[in-house]
Amino acid sequence: MRYTASMNPHTRTRAATPEAIADAAALLRAGRLVAFPTETVYGLGANALDAEAARSIFVAKGRPAEDPLIVHLASSAELPQVAVAVPPVVEVLANACWPGPLTLVLRRAAAVPALVSAGRDTVAVRVPAHPVAQALLAAAGVPVAAPSANRFGHTSPTTAAHVLADLDGRIDMVLDGGPTSIGVESTVLDVTGPVPTLLRPGGVSLEALQALLGEVRVAQRAAVEGEAQISPGLLERHYAPESELWLVVGGEARCRMWLLEQTQLALAAGKRVGLLLPNEDAALLYDSGALIEALGPKHDLAAIARNLYAALRALDARQPDVIFARDMGEAGIARAIRDRLTRAASGRVVRL
Ligand code: AMP
Ligand code: MG
Repeated sequence: MRYTASMNPHTRTRAATPEAIADAAALLRAGRLVAFPTETVYGLGANALDAEAARSIFVAKGRPAEDPLIVHLASSAELPQVAVAVPPVVEVLANACWPGPLTLVLRRAAAVPALVSAGRDTVAVRVPAHPVAQALLAAAGVPVAAPSANRFGHTSPTTAAHVLADLDGRIDMVLDGGPTSIGVESTVLDVTGPVPTLLRPGGVSLEALQALLGEVRVAQRAAVEGEAQISPGLLERHYAPESELWLVVGGEARCRMWLLEQTQLALAAGKRVGLLLPNEDAALLYDSGALIEALGPKHDLAAIARNLYAALRALDARQPDVIFARDMGEAGIARAIRDRLTRAASGRVVRL
């Protein structure tokens, strides 16, 4: 029998033991859906060479058919199964960044069903580094299409509990490998054109790519949903909390002043205020009566990225009327943090 979303009233969560990984691999080979940890976020996997299995990902997530999936491989040796006309630069990138949080957009091989790539003639490919993902891909023996394991438009999951909160009863199994280490999605780099183009900032920094490649073009985000997009993941509104989120961008002192003022104004107006801030900024507002999620020390951007989505979910659950967050710049992983917060803000960005 083929998968339909309604056929999975019970989603099993299992610790990622060798037995559970073997069972998960068997499910994947049978065309079923398994969520599993990667070093970035949890992915929702299906056999990438089975069109029906891949289609069920879209059903489970409520993902529009225009949004292509990332195909995960056990190693770069499997590239010829999914991509053709692979340019020489891929060897440089694969040697330096795989396994790891870099997704490459390549020419799609005919074996990959068109719906995996939302009808495009390209395919996004990555070799993840997480040991559970590695073991699962090796055991499955097939390329695995896996977008983030959340309902479309929601915050990406960084724990098995986040996956269940969105997809319980809609998928077959969740492999629990603990919280993910990077916490934001992979970098997406298009290498089909003459100049490599950054479509989405992520776990591999723009600076690292520039050091490897020299010139890297940075794709501009589409201003509004529905506008022509180079990459569908560049939707302005994404990762959106229920509450209205405002992102303040600028020098640290000015941002702090703005946060203090706006928090006090909103509280005085009777609003529930949520704050998503580095520890040092949060400390200034601990006694204010605001709901606070501290992300980590301001100099530890890796920790801030790792904690970002869990903090956003936790804050949202406390149902603030408004959330204030501060930009962390664009060096290294801060570019990815800025990108996700900008999208969570749906355009509510204050530049000081
Ligand atoms: P997710 O795995 O949920 O983070 O989503 C995958 C994202 O990768 C998509 O939303 C796109 O932004 C990007 N992507 C996947 N395939 C392609 C492709 N063929 N061309 C351009 N971008 C892609
Ligand atoms: Mg996603």
